Amino acid sequence: LKYLRVAIPAPVFTTFVYSSTKPVSKGARVRVPFGKTRRTGYVTAVLDRLTETGGDAYGKIKEVEEVIDEEPLLTDGLCRLADEMIFHYISAPGEVYSAMLPPRLTYPKIKRKRKKETKPSSETGFLMNSAQEDAFQRIIRADEEGAFPSKFLLHGVNASGKTEIYLRLSSYLAEKNRQTLILLPEIAITVQMIDMFIKRFGSSSVGVWHSRISNGKKMENIRKIKNGDLKVLIGSRSAVFAPFKSLGGIVVDEEHDHSYKEGNSPFYDARWVSEKRGEIENAVVVYSSATPTLETMYRSKRKEINYLKIPQKVFKSDETKVRIVDMNHSVKFKGAIFSTRLLRSIEQALSVNKQIIIYINRRGYAPAVICRECGENIKCSDCSSSLVYHRNSGKLSCHLCGSSFKNPGKCIYCKGEVFAYRGAGTERVKKALEKLFPDANICRMDSDSVRKKDDARRVFEKFRNHKYDILVGTALVTKGWDFPEVELVGVLQAESALTMPDFRAAEKTFSSLKQVTGRSGRFGRHGEVFIQTLTPGHYAIRYMAERDYESFYEKELEIRKECFYPPYCKLVKIVGEGRTENNLESRMRLCAQYIKKKLPFTEFLGPSKAHRGRLRGKYRWQMLLKYREGKDVEVKEMLRKMRADERFAKYLKIDADPVEML
Ligand SMILES: [Zn+2]
Ligand SMILES: [Zn+2]
Repeated sequence: LKYLRVAIPAPVFTTFVYSSTKPVSKGARVRVPFGKTRRTGYVTAVLDRLTETGGDAYGKIKEVEEVIDEEPLLTDGLCRLADEMIFHYISAPGEVYSAMLPPRLTYPKIKRKRKKETKPSSETGFLMNSAQEDAFQRIIRADEEGAFPSKFLLHGVNASGKTEIYLRLSSYLAEKNRQTLILLPEIAITVQMIDMFIKRFGSSSVGVWHSRISNGKKMENIRKIKNGDLKVLIGSRSAVFAPFKSLGGIVVDEEHDHSYKEGNSPFYDARWVSEKRGEIENAVVVYSSATPTLETMYRSKRKEINYLKIPQKVFKSDETKVRIVDMNHSVKFKGAIFSTRLLRSIEQALSVNKQIIIYINRRGYAPAVICRECGENIKCSDCSSSLVYHRNSGKLSCHLCGSSFKNPGKCIYCKGEVFAYRGAGTERVKKALEKLFPDANICRMDSDSVRKKDDARRVFEKFRNHKYDILVGTALVTKGWDFPEVELVGVLQAESALTMPDFRAAEKTFSSLKQVTGRSGRFGRHGEVFIQTLTPGHYAIRYMAERDYESFYEKELEIRKECFYPPYCKLVKIVGEGRTENNLESRMRLCAQYIKKKLPFTEFLGPSKAHRGRLRGKYRWQMLLKYREGKDVEVKEMLRKMRADERFAKYLKIDADPVEML
């Protein structure tokens, strides 16, 4: 008989003790009775005796009903990683374990379909220029020498250049029987990169991991990762938890992308987790981006991460002309979507058969529906957000909670029947362009138009093959693909993110503008970019147009330092949710007093009503804690006690190193 400590996927801060007569190891999943139900839990320790139970909640010890994983899928390294995450993200053990390995992930019935296999080819890839070669050599030297830190920031390399570095690193590791993990933002997992890896390593050595992969496929991958058959795994955020036999390197591609941060408990950030995993498994970690986050840049300046700059000399995209167009006059007096200068350039590009991308970070037809009689903005009944009019479906939809409503016909405030549809989203922009350029083929790309698995790829391929002249889209159009024929990019409402109450607003704007302007003139021809905006003087837009990353970085760091924001402080966001607002407010004030008393050195923002003050029927209040890095342990220990305290536990969400500020 053995005793087990078991973590249950629930917001409880202890593990529970069970007994087992069957053999079971640490890291395995087990089925256990829990209250009146049965749950899947995770074995965090196997004990011979019941002497030391430190903090475990148990009364009469029950027996495990079933051992799900005879051989545990969570390796020792992953269990150590879980401990680090539980502390850093102030999480319940079960929350962390279930993020690592979903409780419902089951073994598939074995049905062997013989798939056609692609054998690795001996052909070599792109030639690397000297900067790329140098970067690659420095990475493998760090690995050979076991140098510290074996973390790198690869700054500014273009698509094919960076892929070649990833391929070479993977080959180098594979020769030593070690595996490579390539992390990509979910949306950027395109066939282009996967194909290149399959070509180099053969299809049986390369695995793919993202949210649309079936459970069966995932389990098959897990098995191959665990026994070392897979040399390379390409995946999104949660692939960072794959049970590698011998992990040698982790690449975090497009490091600036915010989708690396999980939006629900345990709120982990795959970038932080990669680094911890790298430390535990002795793997090199490579962050890569043309616009790295300020935090990563700052750490590289402090030599916590090795900085590798790759100057872009391969393409002439630096000769692209970027023009800022002040829209204040046209919008106020004519309600225009496009400036005349942009329209003229579109006409010119079409006349010489060149392609155009129009970027607007808003989907739908009109982002605001306003009653003409009382002037009220029509909002979602469950959220604080304005409903967006979608003309194709004829519905009003809430972009916060996803619910959609029939066009009401009558104003709920005054029963008025006339509405104004204000502003523009992708649908309206496409409609307007179709009217202006009736001969052009125009397609739209946003999360409404690409819902199914292969939709995005199909649109991209068609656009690449010039079946369309103009592509109108949201941030989706900036991810992953190269379009050789694009010579004109128009950015509409470049200021839209700047108006958000988020200290990263300027950084996000700079980075997304850089991504989208990089789409133009990539292949040696000169491109043209128009940035239409109501805030033409803003430094994020100005430095972007001048391609002056360094100055933007200096200026932004100065502001962060002055206002005491990351990377100069640590941040924890505490969100309270409740059905009634008065109640919630007083609870949040109580909570703030409690923290202030225990942690007098922290700076406080709030508590106040969140920007998204109501979401899915619940009111939301939030506060931000700011403190110096050296106080991290003290703060987290205190918050852990608070999260376990019944007075606060039920309605609080605690997000360490938050990315989403609304
Ligand atoms: Zn009205
Ligand atoms: Zn809603």
